[in-house]
Amino acid sequence: MELPRIVENSPFARIARLKLGQPNVAMVLGKAIHLSGVTREAFLRDPSWVAHEMCHIRQVQEHGLVPFLWKYLIESVRVGYYANRFEVEAREAAVRDTSRYAAALGVAVPPGPGRGTEPTPQDPRPDLVL
Ligand SMILES: [Zn+2]
Repeated sequence: MELPRIVENSPFARIARLKLGQPNVAMVLGKAIHLSGVTREAFLRDPSWVAHEMCHIRQVQEHGLVPFLWKYLIESVRVGYYANRFEVEAREAAVRDTSRYAAALGVAVPPGPGRGTEPTPQDPRPDLVL
């Protein structure tokens, strides 16, 4: 399994983290995953989070960066973050692919459905895709 570039202490992710009021943020910027409030090591210990962000990387590749951004924005405006079809797909990918990423990363599968910390409508734990 090939991981994308992972940027720790990303100023972009930091701005997003502060704006969203989240303790930690992972955001996909094109082909890279930018982190703030979480180390690369801690991120890679959460295979369902990795699976979620890897799905966004695939979405960017499939649609092309600009068309993807446009579609993601339209979805966000239309239905919000949680019901955004790209987020729905990423949550489904997290549930589906967690075991595979756990095996590839050599870490334990987290307890609970999905990643254990899977976002809910009440606690969406938003991430960003740009
Ligand atoms: Zn997401």
